[in-house]
Amino acid sequence: MASQLTMYITLVCTSGILNLFLCLYTFKNRYKYTNISNYFIFYTATIGIYCFASALCLISTTLEQITFWNIILYIGMTLSPPLGLLFIMVYLGIKVTLKRAILLLVIPFTTVIMVATNNWHHLHYRVFELDPNLGAPYVYQEIGIWYMVHGMFTFACMLVAFILLISRWKETAKGYRPQLIALMFGQLLPMITAFLYLIGFTPVGIDPVPMILWISSVLYLWSISTSRLFTIMPIAKDTIFNSINDCALVLDKSHRLIEYNQACRAILPLTDKSMLGKNFAEIWTEQTGEALPFQLGADIVDIQEFKLTTNDSERMYHVRITSLEQEKNSKGLLLVFTDITEIKTLQEKLEQQAYYDELTQIYNRRAFLQKCEQDFMAAKETSSPFTILLIDIDHFKRVNDTYGHHIGDQVIVHVVKLCQSQLQEEHVFARYGGEEFVIALKEYNEAEGEALGKRLCETLEMEQLMTPEGKLSVTLSIGVAEVKDWTEETLHQLLHKADKALYAAKEKGRNRVKTFGAS
Ligand code: GH3
Ligand code: MG
Ligand code: MG
Repeated sequence: MASQLTMYITLVCTSGILNLFLCLYTFKNRYKYTNISNYFIFYTATIGIYCFASALCLISTTLEQITFWNIILYIGMTLSPPLGLLFIMVYLGIKVTLKRAILLLVIPFTTVIMVATNNWHHLHYRVFELDPNLGAPYVYQEIGIWYMVHGMFTFACMLVAFILLISRWKETAKGYRPQLIALMFGQLLPMITAFLYLIGFTPVGIDPVPMILWISSVLYLWSISTSRLFTIMPIAKDTIFNSINDCALVLDKSHRLIEYNQACRAILPLTDKSMLGKNFAEIWTEQTGEALPFQLGADIVDIQEFKLTTNDSERMYHVRITSLEQEKNSKGLLLVFTDITEIKTLQEKLEQQAYYDELTQIYNRRAFLQKCEQDFMAAKETSSPFTILLIDIDHFKRVNDTYGHHIGDQVIVHVVKLCQSQLQEEHVFARYGGEEFVIALKEYNEAEGEALGKRLCETLEMEQLMTPEGKLSVTLSIGVAEVKDWTEETLHQLLHKADKALYAAKEKGRNRVKTFGAS
């Protein structure tokens, strides 16, 4: 009997030492894991207490000693199953709030108090005395009502943890299934052992559970050590998520906010943890005062642009909405917002520079050729009239030489303004060169073009430019050309004809309009 007892004590102590080692090992390497290590450290520590107190019970010689070590044993025994459950929950990615964790520990704490104060109420043990036949350390006990509560709670914790693990079987990647099996086995082992003990399959008076708990702990540690997904990866993912400069947030399938990064404060400055679980459209409206300006569509990837006014400044964003569909019931959305205000401004500026003349803000030669080509081709389809006016400021060099380049610039702007006042929207007007301009007139024949040219010359004659040097008058020479043969003529040829007419106008003494037909 004594040798058998020595063997039990050795086994329990070995289990205790192993658990203590696992506890210290995890504590030392806790930086490698996420908060999962906290639960594991407490879990192995409580099992350590359970084992060593069991051993001390077994070497006790009086009822007082047994009662005392039994209370310590209960601290470890009652706390370890709920801590094991919390550990499994964290492993499976189930959110464990402090409230939930504390709630789970209410019954264990009550049990410890019940055991410690049993002599007064006998609710845990109705009878707890030395075994009359075997003597210390064997105890004769009759269980009370609280013992049943405690027993059911302990089993429930292990069972819930086991069921949670099974429920994740399908969605667990094949590579992590051995870990899941190890965790299930780790839960099942103490349950089976306790069950065998309760139905009298193990030696009377000796609790075998602490002897096998080291196996569970080793299996658990192996699972978390090899599941990089649960150790380094969550930290890496969190770091990436928070370090990107774009606002990123995750919604569940009902469009409730479940995660957001720090950059989101630039768009939604009041976002904090209290908003998790709230409908995203509501959060948006509350903080921006506007309805959600984009659709939370069902496409796999969707990019939309929108404007947002924050702190009196208007900014442009594009939002990339990615559907996070792993399984039918786990559909969510990832929203990434990028501030494109600067890019848009730059894009507009580049477009402006590419198509508009800087001094006069009318089309440049390149834009003219593009626009005019379109109108030219459209006119060609219906063989409608199409006329070009080429305009050149007379003796412009003199203006520059006499008054300086800056006055020359003012003259160019002045000429453009006056021409614009005589033109209609559908006329394509552009700066063709230094002091040369061009106008494309659809539905105009040469005579109508000539009339317009004359109007331009008259307007310029009447409206002189006021300069610090006094009133300054300039004149224009204009060449007009119309498409005569749609089967042959190209835009290039038409421009060439207008140039010839302009040359004729210069030849004839300037300040006049010449048509190609008459030149
Ligand atoms: P013509 O009557 O034969 O057209 O004589 P012109 O002096 O107008 O002819 P020319 O083509 O020889 O001179 C054009 C001048 O326009 C030369 C150039 O220095 C000047 N010029 C070209 N672009 C600009 C500009 O943006 N600003 C100013 N101030 N001058 C310019
Ligand atoms: Mg010229
Ligand atoms: Mg000139």
